[in-house]
Amino acid sequence: SCFTGGMTTYRLAVIPGDGIGTEVTPAALSVLAAATAGTDLQFTIEEFDWSCRRYLDRGAMMPEDGLDRLGQFDAILLGAVGAPDVPDHVSLWGLLIPIRRAFEQYVNLRPVRLFDGVTSPLRPELARDVDLVIVRENTEGEYSRVGGRLYEGFATEVAMQESVFTRTGVTRVVDYAFELASRRGRGLTSATKSNGIVHTMPFWDQIVAERAELHEVDWRSEHIDALCAKLVMNPAAFDVIVGSNLFGDILSDLTAAVVGSIGIAPSANLNPEGTFPSMFEPVHGSAPDIAGRAIANPIGAIWSTAMMVDHLGHPEVAERIMTGVATSLATPATRTPDLSGTGDTRGVTEAVVAGLG
Ligand code: ATP
Ligand code: MG
Repeated sequence: SCFTGGMTTYRLAVIPGDGIGTEVTPAALSVLAAATAGTDLQFTIEEFDWSCRRYLDRGAMMPEDGLDRLGQFDAILLGAVGAPDVPDHVSLWGLLIPIRRAFEQYVNLRPVRLFDGVTSPLRPELARDVDLVIVRENTEGEYSRVGGRLYEGFATEVAMQESVFTRTGVTRVVDYAFELASRRGRGLTSATKSNGIVHTMPFWDQIVAERAELHEVDWRSEHIDALCAKLVMNPAAFDVIVGSNLFGDILSDLTAAVVGSIGIAPSANLNPEGTFPSMFEPVHGSAPDIAGRAIANPIGAIWSTAMMVDHLGHPEVAERIMTGVATSLATPATRTPDLSGTGDTRGVTEAVVAGLG
C-alpha cells in the first residue's frame, strides 16, 4: 500500500475469470467503491482477462510473467475460473495452484454464518446462531503428488498416495488458527483422525498441543468423523475449526451446506505475514448453467471483498459491507433465485450498497 496526502491506496489485481465470475466481480467492486467512498481508503484496480476463455484462445490461463505481475499488488480478487470444455486440472494447475503456492497462501479461510432470510436444510432449532470459521491448511497434507500405481491392469494392482506434513507447514497454520480463536473468543477445535491415520495425524495433534501452550485459548481435538456428525447436530457450538488440506476441504463444504447456498460462501487464500499478496474469491465456480442470465448471487464475491478489506487492516469497512449483506439477504426481493428470492445480481448489489452500515 502507499500512504500520501492522508489517503491509503492499495493496488488491487482483479481476475473476473469465466462465467458468472465476470458478473459477480463487477458487483463486488461496486460495493467496494461505495463502502470506501468518502473514507481515506482507496483502491487502484487493474483487471486481467486470465481465464479458461484465454486458455482456449491462446493456450494458457495466464501469461508467462503472470505471477511476477501479480506479485506487485497488495491483494488479488478472483471471480471464478472454469468452463465446461476445459478440464478442471487446467484451471487449477494453470492459475489457482500456482498463485497459492507462489504467494505462500498457506491459510484457506472460510467463514460460515447463517443469515436471517437464508434457509438451512437443518431444522431451524438446530441451525440457529451458526457463526464459525474453517481454517484449512492450503499447501501440503493429503493433496500431494507423491505416490503412484504398481502392476497396472493386473489383479495385484496397487495405488499409493502419500500425505506430506511438515513441522513448518503445520505449525504456521495452527498458529494462525490459535490467534484467530483468541481474537474471536469461543475456542478452537482441531480436526484429526489419529486413531486410523497413525503417522501424520499424531504429528498434527502433537504440534497442536505444543502450540496450545503459547496461547490462552480453550481447545479440543475431534476425530473428523465425529466432528462431521456434531456439525450437523449442533453447528452453533463451534467457532474456529482448524484442519488439514483434506479435512478442511470436507468441513468447508459440509458447513457451507448447513447455512444455505454456495452462492454466498466466501474464501480467502491468505499469506498472513503479508510478504505476498493474498487472494480472495467466492467458493462457487463459473456456474455455466446460469451464466449470462444476470441472476448470479453476488454475495459470495461481496463477502470475499469484505474479507480482503479486513485482511488489509480495515475491519470497520468490512463490517459496513457485512451490514449491507445482511440487509439485502433479509428481504426476498433483494435475494437471488438460488435463495428463493425474486431479485437479480444488480438488485442485490444495489440493496447491499443501500444497506451499508
Ligand atoms: P466450475 O466448473 O467453474 O467449478 P461448476 O459447474 O462446478 O463450475 P459451480 O459454479 O460450482 O458449478 O455451481 C454449482 C451449482 O451452484 C450450479 O447449479 C450453479 O448454478 C449454482 N451456483 C453456484 N454459484 C452460484 C451463484 N453465485 N448464484 C447462484 N447459483 C450459483
Ligand atoms: Mg466446480
